[in-house]
Amino acid sequence: MTTDVRSRKSAGSGAFDAPYATPDESLAAQLIADSAQSDAADKRIDARATRLIEGIRAHAGGLGGVEDFLHAYSLSTKEGLALMVLAEALLRVPDAVTTDRLIEDKLKAGDWTSPDLKSNALLVSASAWTLGMTVRIIQPGETPDSILESLAKRLGVPAVRSATRQAMRLLGSHFVLGQTIEEALDRADRNGGLRYSFDMLGEGARTAADAERYLSAYAAAIDAIGKAAGDDALPNRPGISVKLSALHPRYEAVSRGRVLAEIVPRVLALARKARDHDLNFTIDAEEADRLELSLEVIAAVVADTSLRGWEGFGLAVQAYQKRAGAVIDWLAELAKARQRRFMVRLVKGAYWDTEIKRAQERGLGDYPVFTRKPMTDLNYLQCTRKLLAARPRLYPQFATHNALTVASVIEDAGGAGAYGAGAYGAKGYEFQRLHGMGEVLYETLSAELPDAACRIYAPVGGYRDLLAYLVRRLLENGANSSFVAVAADPTVPISTILRRPRAWIGEAKQARHPKIPLPHHLYGAGRRNSAGVEFGDAKSLEALVNDVRGADVPTLATPILNGIALSGTERPLRSPIDGNIIGQVREANPVMASAAMAAAQTGFAVWSTTPVATRARCLERAADLFEKQRARLIALTQHEGGKTLDDALAEVRETVDFCRYYAAQARESFAPTALPGATGESNTLRYRGRGVFVCISPWNFPLAIFCGQIAAALAAGNTVVAKPAEQTPLIAAAAVRLLHEAGVPSAALHLVPGDGTIGAALVADARVAGVAFTGSTEVARLINRALAAKDSAVVPLIAETGGINAMIVDATALPEQVTDDVITSSPGEMPAAMMLRCRAAVHE
Ligand SMILES: Cc1cc2nc3c(=O)[nH]c(=O)nc-3n(C[C@H](O)[C@H](O)[C@H](O)COP(=O)(O)OP(=O)(O)OC[C@H]3O[C@@H](n4cnc5c(N)ncnc54)[C@H](O)[C@@H]3O)c2cc1C
Repeated sequence: MTTDVRSRKSAGSGAFDAPYATPDESLAAQLIADSAQSDAADKRIDARATRLIEGIRAHAGGLGGVEDFLHAYSLSTKEGLALMVLAEALLRVPDAVTTDRLIEDKLKAGDWTSPDLKSNALLVSASAWTLGMTVRIIQPGETPDSILESLAKRLGVPAVRSATRQAMRLLGSHFVLGQTIEEALDRADRNGGLRYSFDMLGEGARTAADAERYLSAYAAAIDAIGKAAGDDALPNRPGISVKLSALHPRYEAVSRGRVLAEIVPRVLALARKARDHDLNFTIDAEEADRLELSLEVIAAVVADTSLRGWEGFGLAVQAYQKRAGAVIDWLAELAKARQRRFMVRLVKGAYWDTEIKRAQERGLGDYPVFTRKPMTDLNYLQCTRKLLAARPRLYPQFATHNALTVASVIEDAGGAGAYGAGAYGAKGYEFQRLHGMGEVLYETLSAELPDAACRIYAPVGGYRDLLAYLVRRLLENGANSSFVAVAADPTVPISTILRRPRAWIGEAKQARHPKIPLPHHLYGAGRRNSAGVEFGDAKSLEALVNDVRGADVPTLATPILNGIALSGTERPLRSPIDGNIIGQVREANPVMASAAMAAAQTGFAVWSTTPVATRARCLERAADLFEKQRARLIALTQHEGGKTLDDALAEVRETVDFCRYYAAQARESFAPTALPGATGESNTLRYRGRGVFVCISPWNFPLAIFCGQIAAALAAGNTVVAKPAEQTPLIAAAAVRLLHEAGVPSAALHLVPGDGTIGAALVADARVAGVAFTGSTEVARLINRALAAKDSAVVPLIAETGGINAMIVDATALPEQVTDDVITSSPGEMPAAMMLRCRAAVHE
């Protein structure tokens, strides 16, 4: 992966550089102050929103579709979800006979308890489940299988079978207007007079072929929509919504240079087509880490003079993002600079769960989205005002299914946006809703404001591309914070629904959700999460890349005994990238290996009796030092280990996490406890170190596994002789120096670079009390045999060996998810392995 951080000004407009994740409190005060309304305005909003909610509640089945389905089968959201998971998987089965057989197979009463069925895990791996549904709806340990099992027991198999079929029909038709654009246009035509924005299902292209397929689908759809568009003028013309992630397999910030070079011409070609038909062409909003890149793409596209005079170009802005207001300001400036008009869809945002999880997983300083829903609502109101004030340069499109939001927009706008003449002027705007949602809300609205303009966002496509979209809709329907869920629930009083976001928030200092810790505090007080870098934040990425480029990378590795660098047989080290010489290693000989074992044994007396808290502090200081020297370690890992930037960063973070994790484990597990009948302080120790551990690590995680093995052994009170992989001694030597600097006594940790013969000599040494090895199964077997041949007490071997697993993927799996799970995000170290090392490194 090449990292391109060339100046972002090159797109031809002012770069968008709002802070990625401003603290919530500092935004809240302004948002609360700006949201004040007069009493009269508040009363009008209350009255209108009440009428709309009453309209929704009066309608049989409330919200229609999904809610009706869940009620009809007395399903809680979680059961409905489990059925949807099954139904969605079934939609991808190519033929009806297999579909039927699968349903029968899944619902056969006896089979629910069959261990074979349970372990077959067809549903457990279903993407919908893993894509974030767990956050609010599902309890830990629950699986679609287990929920369906209890459902079948409760309702009986025939009812569940029929619900499954209905769920399939519902998924197929409720959220999708047509499987082809022709079918969708036909259905839209029958709804006469409504504005549509067609969305070709498909996003997150994983291959160039996917991107080509989506590009052709968009192009063909634009032509078809254009031909059927009639003679009205914008904004009363249909449109298309485009996801940039569908148009490029590497639509990510680290690939910025390539993305801009390749995607801009594609978007431009589509935009020109839309211009030819004078359509509304909207770039959908996706994940927060893609925002800056998408604005760059947009700036580059609209700079093209061929689009001059066309007023249909637009984009979606997400109010749950803290940067939403800044995006609108940036856009208004761009419209002015380019003498253009843009259509701007204001949404609250559909990826909230993903954003929270990503920020946590990436160890960011703060979240790019708000953590309390009323903050999102407050921000939506402020963005509403910004958009209304920016007319006619910006044409606001308020996309919401929330009656209170609709009433607030109408109040701020001084009335509804009209369909008729002048709709595009200083007073124009429209509402938007999704196909399959919000029908009753907007029917009720148009009964009292017949001219209120509303556009329907209508997904089009085959079931194979439905899932990602569907997951967002299910979340929206199922989340208990969501308006559609509370509006459908008659036990929630209307007065509660009408409570204003500023009243929910109260004071600015309460802007954050008290149960959503900052990413750094994810693991509680006992262990800090390692700090990451958001590549989608160009400023952070640039700073990191500059630091890495400027880092001073060591070029010599030597054996280190008692902290002293020794000489040895010198061997050149070659870059795995281009084969150039990058440094030298002085390799240890068997005599040095033996000396290292002797030194470690001497060191054991002191280190093993060092209080646990002190040992843990050393590891925590090491973690801090690794973080401080992140740029140098990344540079080194790239240089010697051939890692890409994101892999190298992940490697440093994993190292930091290992140190803190083992420190926390040591504090928890090795704290002195009074043993029955024991006297004296040493007798209160339940665990103690075994002696000298030999740690042998591989080249593929040259820093993380190297340090993980050492940290586990040290935490448990052992001393260590470490032998790194032949390919990566520079990294190992730097890590040992940092561990010493952090306070690990030089007598407790020694480094002996060398090849397999040195490893074998260490393992064969009579003083070895344990071996931690990560590498091939073949070598692990050799070590095992060598240890077994000893006359002394049994020496534990903690081996994590490689293996090749076969995977069978059937037609019900979503290929994109399989790719993500298996290939792109293959896990490094699993917590279980961490525990194993820690436990096995002690005497009980
Ligand atoms: C026409 C149309 C087009 C759309 N296009 C896009 C698009 O391009 N990109 C996109 O992302 N979405 C898009 N959406 C989806 C849209 O984001 C959701 O439909 C919308 O968020 C629902 O808002 P609401 O006002 O109807 O519901 P409400 O229930 O009032 O609000 C739901 C919002 O609150 C947020 N929320 C929930 N809990 C919290 C919390 N604890 N902290 C902070 N926020 C929270 C949710 O994430 C969601 O954004 C589109 C929707 C429509 C109708």
